[in-house]
Amino acid sequence: MTGDRQNVERGSAPTPNPTDRPNVERGSAPTPNPTDYTKPLPEISAESKPFWDACARHELLVQTCRACGSVQYYPRGVCATCWSPDVAWTPSSGRGRVYTFTVTHRTQARGFRDDLPYVLAWIELEEGVQVMSNIVGVDPVKVAIGMPVKVTFEDVKDGLSIPKFTGR
Ligand SMILES: [Zn+2]
Repeated sequence: MTGDRQNVERGSAPTPNPTDRPNVERGSAPTPNPTDYTKPLPEISAESKPFWDACARHELLVQTCRACGSVQYYPRGVCATCWSPDVAWTPSSGRGRVYTFTVTHRTQARGFRDDLPYVLAWIELEEGVQVMSNIVGVDPVKVAIGMPVKVTFEDVKDGLSIPKFTGR
């Protein structure tokens, strides 16, 4: 009997795709030693590079469609509302409120277990778009829906900073 490929591959864990979760990276340590950073890093594409370049300057950008006026987040090459390619980078105030959240108390995932417990949240920015990120620098028991937050940036390595949110 020849080998069964499915048996050969059984047990291999699916590889997480960092582009699905670009902002879900860090707990409460504001300035980690970059060599200690063991979480997945964002995959930076030509479309998203201006966004990440701004993050490195500690600026949060959203996109505004010049054709229909829609604001969108995360970065895309076209407007998700009208498909126009004429989208402009516009600065966000970085201010928003917690739309919803969850607190993770247990995980064995490399890089994440050191941050337990940590808060994963959807934040609604003043511009009206929602951002998935972590709430940092706040005791997880004090995080609440509607809580006002502002962006903060975690410098994970040279030229790469990841937007997180903290209380304001
Ligand atoms: Zn549009």
